[in-house]
Amino acid sequence: MLGVLAHKWSWRKRRQAEGKPWDRPNIVMGADVHTVWEKFARFFDVELRLIPLQEDTYIVSAEEVAKEIDENTICVAAVLGTTFTGQMDPIKEINDLLVDIKKTKGWDIPLHVDGASGGFVAPFVNPDLEWDFRLEQVKSINVSGHKYGLVYPGIGWLIMRDKTDLPDELVFKVNYLGGEMTNYSLNFSKGSSTILAQYYNFIRLGKSGYTDIMQNMMNNSRYLAEKLHETGKFEIINKQHTLPLVAIRLKDAPFTVFHLSARLRQKGWIVPAYYLPENAQDVAVMRMVIKENFSRDMVELLFSDIMKAYHSLELSETEIKERERGIENLTLLY
Ligand SMILES: *Cc1c(COP(=O)(O)O)cnc(C)c1O
Repeated sequence: MLGVLAHKWSWRKRRQAEGKPWDRPNIVMGADVHTVWEKFARFFDVELRLIPLQEDTYIVSAEEVAKEIDENTICVAAVLGTTFTGQMDPIKEINDLLVDIKKTKGWDIPLHVDGASGGFVAPFVNPDLEWDFRLEQVKSINVSGHKYGLVYPGIGWLIMRDKTDLPDELVFKVNYLGGEMTNYSLNFSKGSSTILAQYYNFIRLGKSGYTDIMQNMMNNSRYLAEKLHETGKFEIINKQHTLPLVAIRLKDAPFTVFHLSARLRQKGWIVPAYYLPENAQDVAVMRMVIKENFSRDMVELLFSDIMKAYHSLELSETEIKERERGIENLTLLY
């Protein structure tokens, strides 16, 4: 929210300086964004141009972004690892589009990368992937420390590309706490425990520690994905596997992921099942987020419980059918 608020201000200042209207800002993104983005648009009174998903591609494309942007676009948002399927928006292609638009139309539209989930993973497991300030139009990035940053809730980071991307008017300076303190936030006071924990992890683990942990999580989640795939009963949605997460659909089961999720809950597993956003709203998926403490043993356990739940649901489904048939026969006899 603070990142895009800064872009809104920069856009408005630019429009005012050019003597152009500045009353109809918009923001462009795919329907694969986290709810926080819809919140931003509503809270900060910016027109939300949400690009619907398509059946079978659950991310946004640069061509679709191109259709929505104009001189009133304060920012385009792209996700590095969506909440719904763990897939990544084509950030480099969107950047290239915006670079091109800047050259041809003169609209300097910033790209914000929502790296809430992927920001602490990609640098360690996929360092050659360009999604960050290596790309010209990426002007701000958010990352959640309390996800793969490995800190308890709630800490998040906002990184601006350049000091000039954050307008001075938004930064407040206070001196009544001793010395001068600069502050850019919505609330004022905040506990420092999460910052200390993040700091500790950075120093304690370092780049090599984070790399080990991320790679281990990737291996375990890939292993789970492979095992599920091999059964022939599930379709793995995030086939590219760029985050330690497995999102699946059922192939042709006589029950839904909601039944499966409920069965797993009886065993103590919290595996959410949900429908995808707009235009893919008939697609029901189930998501398993593999965390640092989720060992290979736990993968085996989860897999075995998934299959037990699967077979018992299948069985109860045939039982129901048989019973129905029985009742029909009974009725005939009677
Ligand atoms: C979790 C998440 C958010 C919200 O971040 P918080 O740190 O929980 O506020 C935003 N975007 C994406 C893609 C997320 O996964």
